[in-house]
Amino acid sequence: MKLFDLTGKVALVTGGNGGIGLGMAQGMASCGAAIAISGRNAEKARTALESLRPFGVKTAFIAADVTRKADCVKLVAETEAQFGRLDILVNNAGTAIRKMPQDYTEEEWHTVLDTNLTSAFLLSQAAYHAMKRAGGGKMINIGSMMSLFGAPYAAPYGSSKGGIVQMTKALATAWATDNIQVNAVLPGWIDTELTQRARQQVSGLHERVENRTPAGRWGTPADMAGIAAFLASPASDFVSGTAIPVDGGYAIGM
Ligand code: NDP
Repeated sequence: MKLFDLTGKVALVTGGNGGIGLGMAQGMASCGAAIAISGRNAEKARTALESLRPFGVKTAFIAADVTRKADCVKLVAETEAQFGRLDILVNNAGTAIRKMPQDYTEEEWHTVLDTNLTSAFLLSQAAYHAMKRAGGGKMINIGSMMSLFGAPYAAPYGSSKGGIVQMTKALATAWATDNIQVNAVLPGWIDTELTQRARQQVSGLHERVENRTPAGRWGTPADMAGIAAFLASPASDFVSGTAIPVDGGYAIGM
C-alpha cells in the first residue's frame, strides 16, 4: 500500500475555488485525486481550475450555495454523476461576520451558522450514501482556532466552529463501521480573502498573530496541503474524530 496515494479517488472541496480550500485541493491533487471544487464565484473557480491543471488529474467546478439544502444535495449527486464516485469530502466553505454580540441581527447569526455548520452536516449526510457505495470514505471538516478560543467579535463564528468539532466526533462514531473516517482541521491564521478582511476590521491583528505564532508568520493556503493529503489518504485510516491544529504552534504559544 502506498500511504499517500489517492489515485482513483474523487474529492469534493466546498469553497475550493480559493484560499484554504484550494490549498487542500492542490494537496490532494498532488497525490493523484480527481477534484471537484465548489463555490458561488465562477470567475474565481476558473483561476482555481487553472492552478490544478499541472497535476494532470480530472477536475470540475460545480456551482452551489451551501446555505441552500437543495444545492448541497445536488452538489454531491452532481459530483458522483460527473466523476463516477465520491471518496473524500472537505467541508471548507465558510464565512465570518465580525461584531460585538449585542449587535448581531438574527439573520446574521443564521447566515454564519448555515454557511459554516449546517451546510457541513447536510453535505456529510448526502455524502454518506455516496461513500457507502464507494466502500468507505474520508470527511474533513474545517474548524478554526475559534473552535478552541473565544473572541469578542466571533460569537456566531466561534459557535459554528465549536460545533464543527463536536459534529465531527458524532459522525466519526456513527460511521466508523462503514469505513468512513471523519476529522476536523483547525487552521491557525492563514492569509486568505477572509483574513484580509479581518485585518481591515480588527486593528493590530496582523502584528498580534505574528507575535503569538511560534513560527513567527501567518500561514498560507499551501500550508494546508499536507494535512489534506494525510487525512484523505490510507495513512490516516485509524485516525478519526479528532481535531488537528495546523497553526504554526499558535494554540500552544505563550
Ligand atoms: P475564503 O474567503 O478565501 O474562502 C471561503 C470559501 O467559502 C470561498 O471559496 C467561498 O466561495 C466559499 N463560500 C462562502 N460562502 C459560501 C456559500 N454560501 N456557498 C458556497 N460557498 C461559499 O476564506 P478561507 O480560505 O480563509 O476560509 C476557508 C475555511 O477556513 C472557512 O471555513 C474558514 O472559516 C476557515 N478558516 C480560515 C482561517 C484563516 O485564517 N483564513 C482560520 C480558520 C478557519 P465563493 O466566494 O465562491 O462563495
